[in-house]
Amino acid sequence: MQLLINYFIVNKNDYIKMLDAYKRNGELFLASIKQEDKNKNRSIDDLIKENFRKPVLELVGHTRIGENASELDILKALKNYFEVSSSSREILNASFFKTGKGTCSLCGKTTDVFSNRSYIFPFERKIDSIAPEDMRLQFCKECGFTLYCGMAYLYANAKGTIKFFFDSYNQKNLWKINNIFKNLDLQDPNNYNKIKSFGVFTYHPYETLFVIIFEFVNRLKEKNLINEVKDIDDVKLLLAVGSGQIYETHIIEGDKLNKFVEFFSKMIDDSKELYKKIDKEKVHIDGNHLIFRGFFDNLTVGQTTEEKSRLRNLFVKDLLDKKINFIILNEIIMERVKNKEKSPVPFHYYAFLNLYMNTFKMETEQQMFNRINGLGFEIGNKIKGTNLDNFIWEIFRARGIEEFYNVLVELQAKLEMKMDLRPINEYEKEWRKAKAVLLNGILNALYQKEQSNIKNNMI
Ligand SMILES: [Zn+2]
Repeated sequence: MQLLINYFIVNKNDYIKMLDAYKRNGELFLASIKQEDKNKNRSIDDLIKENFRKPVLELVGHTRIGENASELDILKALKNYFEVSSSSREILNASFFKTGKGTCSLCGKTTDVFSNRSYIFPFERKIDSIAPEDMRLQFCKECGFTLYCGMAYLYANAKGTIKFFFDSYNQKNLWKINNIFKNLDLQDPNNYNKIKSFGVFTYHPYETLFVIIFEFVNRLKEKNLINEVKDIDDVKLLLAVGSGQIYETHIIEGDKLNKFVEFFSKMIDDSKELYKKIDKEKVHIDGNHLIFRGFFDNLTVGQTTEEKSRLRNLFVKDLLDKKINFIILNEIIMERVKNKEKSPVPFHYYAFLNLYMNTFKMETEQQMFNRINGLGFEIGNKIKGTNLDNFIWEIFRARGIEEFYNVLVELQAKLEMKMDLRPINEYEKEWRKAKAVLLNGILNALYQKEQSNIKNNMI
């Protein structure tokens, strides 16, 4: 418990920063409330009393609770999103109006403040409730209600384990992206701000977010809205993962989000082209999803649900950070070889990675990848039809650069081929990565499968 309290104290500033970003969504929603005639010039107390249902209606959808829902109804609806104590019966008197003199943690004003409540501030760590009284966050009514309004633009995935929202200092673009996002039919009709499950199996947060961003782009294209967001590069996406005591946060900056729109958009175009050439009887994926699903669905390992996509989640976490983790990708493929999967190397391996590196302008990385992958593919083709496949395990198990070279030299002799090892020498410092790329290239040549009539892993 002590440790958890320390965690909270150390990260209090980060938490405030997160709330600050979240608050901008609240300001946006509050502005729309204040614009209504009956709310003009209202005191903050009256504004809260008369409008506290609105952000919740926006969050859960008007079909779930009525315009005049009771506080208890609202608390029940919020249980789908936040941790609400079963003893909570009311919102107004238990939180907004239960105040004492103090300093607002957000704006710094000394005034009437109330303490933080998790159903109002969704990233609340339970930790706050075990922190010493003077360490707890507290808010003035203005800041508190603004944060409460922020929930109108808060999204959760189908299982509710991840929550995310957009943020920008540019209110116009923030308003725009929120509106576009809400109009894309991504939501579960019964649970308004929960994002549908898209028929793609995911278990962990980053892989889930990856699918959501893909579907976001897919719908943008379907509804011809892709050009509306193309130039928006000052909107970022904030993700809060976890439940209970600790939330992990992750920020996808605007320029990166923008690149993901570009990446997936191009991928969908390429998929549609490819789809024209395949045998539709054999592939049960639609044209828009062909490359994405062909690659993504084949990154799982093993049987048990949670374990199955653990490595994929790690791989995707790096992708969301503008990095390709070739070592994890290699681990995935080797596991799939070991488990005798039908297609150990994910479909569109080469196309997917090159498109990623093109989009994110990773020239140096791409050069390394192409050279070493090419060498691997060449070696793999030589191994084909021999009984030397076990060498993939020898290479995989090499624990030092010396050992790695030795195995290659031995394999070279057995294959009676002249390997040009210069690309490997040049990347000696990153030999683990070079080894992973090389192995993936070899495996690609050995296990290349066709996703019906198309050789799409190429080299
Ligand atoms: Zn304040």
